Amino acid sequence: MRIARFSVREGSPAAGSVSFGVVEGDPSQPDSLVVHELAGHPFGQPQPTGESYRFQDVRLLSPMLPNKIVAVGRNYAAHATELGNDVPDVPLTFFKPSTSVIGPTENIAYPPFSSDVHHEAELAVVIGRMCREVPLDRVPEVILGYTCANDVTARDIQQREGQWARAKGFDTACPLGPWIETDLDPSDLAITCTVNGEPRQNGRTSLMIRSVAELIVHISEAMTLLPGDVILTGTPAGVGPLNVGDEVAVSIEGIGTLTNKVIKRG
Ligand code: ZN
Repeated sequence: MRIARFSVREGSPAAGSVSFGVVEGDPSQPDSLVVHELAGHPFGQPQPTGESYRFQDVRLLSPMLPNKIVAVGRNYAAHATELGNDVPDVPLTFFKPSTSVIGPTENIAYPPFSSDVHHEAELAVVIGRMCREVPLDRVPEVILGYTCANDVTARDIQQREGQWARAKGFDTACPLGPWIETDLDPSDLAITCTVNGEPRQNGRTSLMIRSVAELIVHISEAMTLLPGDVILTGTPAGVGPLNVGDEVAVSIEGIGTLTNKVIKRG
């Protein structure tokens, strides 16, 4: 199932499943992309409300509002090398704040204190239930699904400051979407990033140093994960600069494409 968060005509956000079908009460357009509204939140057993909308009539929002985003650095060897870093002995983890999240129709606002903002295409894992100290064999039980992420990074600030809170935590630095795919094996998916249609990153999730399951074991050893929390799993090689006016697209096989424009901060 593909679970999106959306609003219609600037109304209240709602969860919905996205599939090909017919809008309720409108059989005139069979086989169009339809959003079926879900009651409440998408965790547990999603219940359809019976309301549905044509996909082009809704505005997609960030598919979840995470309490926290835990990200992993240097989880692809070729990316660690391209920035002159060694592969770490234990996964390198950091937080991005909830206020950095934007959805697929929102813009990345270039922070005025940086002059070298980079894209980082990443597979995002969405947690489905509260958990801590998750054993390896029970990791699938705590995952709701997967979406695309862009771990937007002010590279100059990251290199200048010992902690990465500002470099990776500024407003709009965490585009997520377009939706959560709940039926997906994350072990070997193509992951790409384009800027204005030009290929920049092209990797496979099979090149991760630590698997999704190993990362969740490692992170949940330390902290409770909540429904809607997001784990960013690292970026493959090919990171590079973004400029005001660019359109950056992260695509992951089996999920879809997350596209955002870069604008000047207003
Ligand atoms: Zn990253």
